[in-house]
Amino acid sequence: MSAPHTPVERSDFDQVIVPTFAPAAFIPVRGEGSRVWDQSGRELIDLTGGIAVNVLGHAHPALVQALTEQAGKLWHISNIFTNEPALRLAKKLVDATFAERAFFCNSGAEANEAAFKLARRYAHDVFGSEKYEIISAVNSFHGRTLFTVTVGGQPKYSDGFGPKIEGIKHVPYNDLEALKAAISDKTCAVVLEPIQGESGVLPAEQAYLEGARKLCDEHGALLIFDEVQTGLGRTGELFAYMHYGVTPDILTNAKSLGGGFPIGMMLTTDKVAQHFSVGTHGTTFGGNPLACAVAETVVDIVNTPEVLQGVRDRHERLKAGLLELGERYGVFSQVRGMGLLIGCVLNEAWKGRAREIFDAAEQEALMLLQAGPDVIRLAPSLVIEEADIVEGLARFERALAKLTKA
Ligand SMILES: *Cc1c(COP(=O)(O)O)cnc(C)c1O
Repeated sequence: MSAPHTPVERSDFDQVIVPTFAPAAFIPVRGEGSRVWDQSGRELIDLTGGIAVNVLGHAHPALVQALTEQAGKLWHISNIFTNEPALRLAKKLVDATFAERAFFCNSGAEANEAAFKLARRYAHDVFGSEKYEIISAVNSFHGRTLFTVTVGGQPKYSDGFGPKIEGIKHVPYNDLEALKAAISDKTCAVVLEPIQGESGVLPAEQAYLEGARKLCDEHGALLIFDEVQTGLGRTGELFAYMHYGVTPDILTNAKSLGGGFPIGMMLTTDKVAQHFSVGTHGTTFGGNPLACAVAETVVDIVNTPEVLQGVRDRHERLKAGLLELGERYGVFSQVRGMGLLIGCVLNEAWKGRAREIFDAAEQEALMLLQAGPDVIRLAPSLVIEEADIVEGLARFERALAKLTKA
């Protein structure tokens, strides 16, 4: 038996945690499906999915079983040895996608860090040392390491940390002409989110991704899709690139892959993968048996026609409900996104007030997300129950009713 826990409360956060976040006023202690309970026993509806992470909700029995079974066998062994869960997971991902090789790590930022380094190394080996430019999109988000914030298109995240990594260009998203003007034979990679998640749930246009693919081919550049947020069923396909029929050379994913257990990955082709030879890149924890055992179970469950169709059905259901709320209370100009990554864009009158809506929802025991100051984001469990959708919408309505009356 472990020793009894010291009691803690929300105010402790402001004393002992580095203040990079401003968490909500309550502390969640338990979750089941799309419901969460806080310290006081209050029951909340969770439409955040831990920011597009908990694809199967909280405490899914199959994931609990996979984790606890593996916990009794082997937690960590390092990459001096390989392990069965990592090999099984890689095989399943290779079978299900364009990719021939997988690299496992622990987060989205690490997956992108690997992708950017690989693209540069590939270009260096194949074309020479002058081909190192990376083009990404304005407002894109790729993680918080120095390389990934620099590639990300939000200077507020990359300014003030000393010299930046050189050779990064930013172009407006969904603007093919701008990409055409920026790309050159010095470009080693173009990196795009098929749906810009953090900056407002903004999907790419079909012609944009097709055009980006063509431009990359013409200039010997690799196309990287950052599917950290859109991957693993979130959009109603296993990966968003499958919706578009546009295949990248490198794909990154993290959030949903472990269903709540930290794991990230980079998928690529054999040809590109060869340029990460032994010793050129590495990780201590990446591909550890615990994370891979859970992720394998996530893939088994999510990559089925029933679950993926269920995501598309739930999209229609939620979108209809949100559009109705938006109309009744005059708050949204648009409801956009794919599958269960949905953005409610606030109209002129409500611009900049996403935090107020977030707070009002919390008062009604509903967990929502923001994506910037102008968009309310929903990224619930892919298997959220109909009853939780109904109750979630009812609570959202109460929050909007109170706010709009005030
Ligand atoms: C969340 C996110 C990341 C960063 O992932 P971390 O696990 O927080 O490092 C990178 N790219 C996209 C598109 C994301 O949504």
